[in-house]
Parts: sequence; structure tokens; C-alpha cells
Amino acid sequence: MEEKVGQRKRILVAGGGITGLSAAFYVAKQAREHGWDAEITVAEASERFGGKINTLRKDGFTIEKGPDSFLSRKTPIIDLTRELGLEGELEAQNPQSKKTYILRRGKLHPMPGGLMLGIPTQLKPFMATGLLSFPGKLRAGLDWVLPRKEGEADESLGGFLTRRLGREVLTGIAEPLLAGIYAGDTHSLSLLATFPQFREAERAHGSLIRGTRAGRKQAEAAAKAAAAGTGVSSGASGATGTTSEADPVAKLVRSSMFLTYRGGLVTLVEALLAALKRDGVRLQTGRRLTAISRMDGSDGDGGQGYKVSFDDGDIESFDAIVLALPTFAIGRLLDALPAVKALSDIPYVSVANVILAFRAEDVADRLDGSGFLVPRTEGKFITACTWTSSKWLHTAPSDKVLLRCYVGRSGAEGWLDMSDDELVARVRADLKSMLGLDADPLFHEITRLPKSMPQYPVGHLDRVRAAREQLAAAMPGVAIAGAGFHGVGLPDCIRQGKEAAQAIGGFFLSVTVRGD
Ligand SMILES: Cc1cc2nc3c(=O)[nH]c(=O)nc-3n(C[C@H](O)[C@H](O)[C@H](O)COP(=O)(O)OP(=O)(O)OC[C@H]3O[C@@H](n4cnc5c(N)ncnc54)[C@H](O)[C@@H]3O)c2cc1C
Repeated sequence: MEEKVGQRKRILVAGGGITGLSAAFYVAKQAREHGWDAEITVAEASERFGGKINTLRKDGFTIEKGPDSFLSRKTPIIDLTRELGLEGELEAQNPQSKKTYILRRGKLHPMPGGLMLGIPTQLKPFMATGLLSFPGKLRAGLDWVLPRKEGEADESLGGFLTRRLGREVLTGIAEPLLAGIYAGDTHSLSLLATFPQFREAERAHGSLIRGTRAGRKQAEAAAKAAAAGTGVSSGASGATGTTSEADPVAKLVRSSMFLTYRGGLVTLVEALLAALKRDGVRLQTGRRLTAISRMDGSDGDGGQGYKVSFDDGDIESFDAIVLALPTFAIGRLLDALPAVKALSDIPYVSVANVILAFRAEDVADRLDGSGFLVPRTEGKFITACTWTSSKWLHTAPSDKVLLRCYVGRSGAEGWLDMSDDELVARVRADLKSMLGLDADPLFHEITRLPKSMPQYPVGHLDRVRAAREQLAAAMPGVAIAGAGFHGVGLPDCIRQGKEAAQAIGGFFLSVTVRGD
């Protein structure tokens, strides 16, 4: 076959969310480093880049309509922040807002100290909490003596937590906390795809609590080391990080479990787009992929690679493709491959959030924390509420208060049929009953996110593995990544984007070596 070395490489990244933009960034970086002659295109179906990331700057407020922050200990986003020269934009959570509340029987209780992802690691605060009955606490203690489950088989997150800690800990603490990340039903979510560290804790320590305590100590040490040594990185802006103890990013990571950017998460999107523009990447919005087919060299021009159709009627050819799309979109595009088509079966839950702004004097209660979570068993409309302006001081003028209420979770998607007025009325009724907050808001902002939260079902990892294997065999040079696969958090999406870029690099290398 014809030697491809030195030929222009045409690479398409489909999807302009954080996964796709990160993939494009790392593909462009490889192209620069390896001196490829590359034409990189990012095609995004909607009219703006960022996907779920959607910051609205309005009347002195910074309003996040999608994600609002990220877990600081996860390094891919810290590395990217450094590479983009955004270190100075990072913002820590208000240290006065570390308390989180959970509703129980209509009353807000502070979460007990020492919880790690909902798992108790300190006896005293756990025994003192009003969130559980005494028998519920004793049942959780059985985790110390219950035998571990043998074998590698997946199980549901809810089943696992009930088995180790009992039903009360699951419904009263762990589910509102963990399922909040997925808006899911823990009895349908895969343990191995969501919190594999729980299984590992049980396997290695014979007890979830013992393993989580050990993991906590290890994570603290690792985070300290990683934060101090995330490396000298020369970014697109030429910015460099430092590795010293005085490194302000390392300090921030150590001090705050969550971070964001002062100008909102869109700061990251804007910086990525600026870097991609500098690298000459073609950035296209309003352009949806509708079909992909492999060229086998038999068409007139002897072409290799892939033909891609877009909704504007264009057909273009590419040598390699990253599909950074929801799994149902990937399943539809590649439905000739059964294992890839099966990705369409991964359920996505529809959620909404309702943001309300108030005059500070109208909010009688001191909002002395980051917000509260609402267990399913409480039968409320909202699933959680973030006291945004208490958690993130930069998000509102000092005489105003910003609250964000979450609506919808697996099995509770009735809000989809509601009008805006009804949504706001239901949310306000909950705030009145939980916080006694009855004042008229200055304004509200509703964000509807249909089919936005992927639910990794039991067996998810096997399904994804099968899809990847079939794709690699049938369509080499096509990579898949995004929130529907291996982690929904922003750092996980960035990691997946980077891995997809590395897979594309590996593909070109293999083509060069084989001389295909
Ligand atoms: C309400 C909410 C709150 C969240 N809060 C947090 C948080 O605080 N912290 C955190 O870390 N994570 C949070 N997450 C999760 C995180 O925001 C997402 O998992 C992540 O942003 C998904 O990024 P992505 O690029 O994989 O997908 P997306 O952002 O969904 O991007 C996919 C893109 O593909 C485009 N597209 C679809 N089909 C096509 C096609 N055929 N052709 C071209 N383009 C197409 C879409 O328009 C979209 O822009 C939250 C998620 C939601 C919904």
C-alpha cells in the first residue's frame, strides 16, 4: 500500500463539549510536537461550543447553567489549566461553606464529618448524626465484620452499599450524595463503572469503612504529592507551572476539594478555543455529523479513511475521527456495528435546574454551607439545592443571593411536561417548606437538559469494551470518548479526550510503521 508518511493528515473531532475540545487540543499538541502536516476540524451540532458547560454572565452574577465546579484532586483538569495558562483564574470554594446538609423528615441535618463519598470514616460524628436511627448506625458498623464478596462480577451500587452498610445509610446519606452525580437510581447503576474503589476497598481490606479510611489517607498523601509536582508544563500560551511547595495551584488543590474559574467554567472553553484557533484548527458550529462510512480504496480516487456526511449536505473525507458525543449519538452513527449500536441502550436521565436570585435581606436564614441534598424518600420535587453565592463568593454581588435548585432524576422526569411557570412554582414551594424562603426572586433562570446524565448500567464496562473492540477492528483510526463512557466529571472527560488524542497518535504511528 501507498506510504502515508508525510501526507497531510485530516482529523475530525465530532462534538464540541469538553471532551471534544480537549481531544482537539491534545491532537493539535501532538501535531505540533511531531511536526505533522495536519488539518484538524471540530464539528459541533449546536450553535455554541462547550456542550454541558454553559456559563451566563448577567447583572454582576456568574451563573452556571450546567456544571459549576470540578474535583480538584483529579489531575487532568489541573494539567490542562496549567497548559492553558489559566492558573490565575482558579477559584477555591468559600472555606466558610464546607457544611452540606441533607433533608430528613423535612428537617435539614448537617452531613456528619469524616464522610468520604458518603462512606463514614470517623466514629464520633457518625454516631452523633441525626440523619440515621441508632439501629441504622449499628447496621453500618456490621461492615467491619461482614465477609467480603468473592469474584469479579459487577453488581449495582445500591446493592453493594446495602450489603455493606445497610439500607438506612444508602437511602439517607449515600444515595443523595452519590446518585446526585448521576441523577441515578443506585440500584440500576454499575458499581464497577461508577465507584470501583468501593469494591477494591472491600477486596483489599475486607470492609468498606476500613478500606475507605485507608484510601483517604493515601489520597491525601497522593494529592499533596501530585499537586506539588504536577509538573513544569509549557502550555499553548507558553505559561509554565512550578513544582515548588509555594506553587499557588498546589496550595489551592490542597485547600479546596472543588475548584472553578473566576469567570465561570466557560473560561476553560474560551481558552481551549483560543488555543485551537492559534493552531489553525477549523472550528465549526451548527454542523452535525449524520453518517460515517469507511472508504476501501475502490472508489475512483483510491481514497482511504472515512467519508463523513454532515446535515448541511456536505461530504468530507478524514483519515481519523474522534467521536466525542453522547453514546446514543454514536450508536446511531455506527449502527452497522452491533456492539457499537448497543451503546444506544445506555440510558440518559433528563434533568433541569432552576436558578433564583434574591436580595440578601430577603433571605432570612444564614446560608452557612454549600447547600443541601434531598433523599428520594423525602418525596420532594427538588433533588438538591446549591447555595451558590455562599459556596462561590464570586458568583453574585455581595448584597444578593444566588440559589440553584436541581430537578429530575432517574424515575422522576415528570418535570419534562411542565411549563416554566409550573417548574418555578414547584421549586419555590419546596424552598418555602425547607428554608422558609417565601420572598419573590429578582429573577429566575431555567435550564432544561433532556437526556443529559448517562446512567452506567450493571455490565457497563463490558458493553463499552465490546464496542471498542468491534470499532477498532472495523474502523481503525476512529476513537470514542465522553461522559457516556468512563466518568461524567469534567476531569474524567478531559482525560478521555486526551486518551482519544493519544489513540489517534498511535493510529498514525501504526499506519506509518505498516506503510498502509
Ligand atoms: C446539570 C449538570 C450538572 C453537572 N455538574 C457537574 C459539575 O459540577 N462538575 C463536573 O465535573 N461535572 C458535572 N456534570 C457533568 C459534566 O458537565 C458532563 O459530563 C460533561 O460536561 C460532558 O462533556 P462531553 O463533552 O462528554 O459531552 P457534552 O458536553 O454533552 O458534549 C457533546 C457535544 O456533542 C454535540 N453533538 C451531539 N451529536 C452530535 C453530532 N451528531 N454531530 C456533532 N455534534 C454533536 C452536542 O451538541 C454537544 O455539544 C454535570 C452535568 C450536568 C448535566
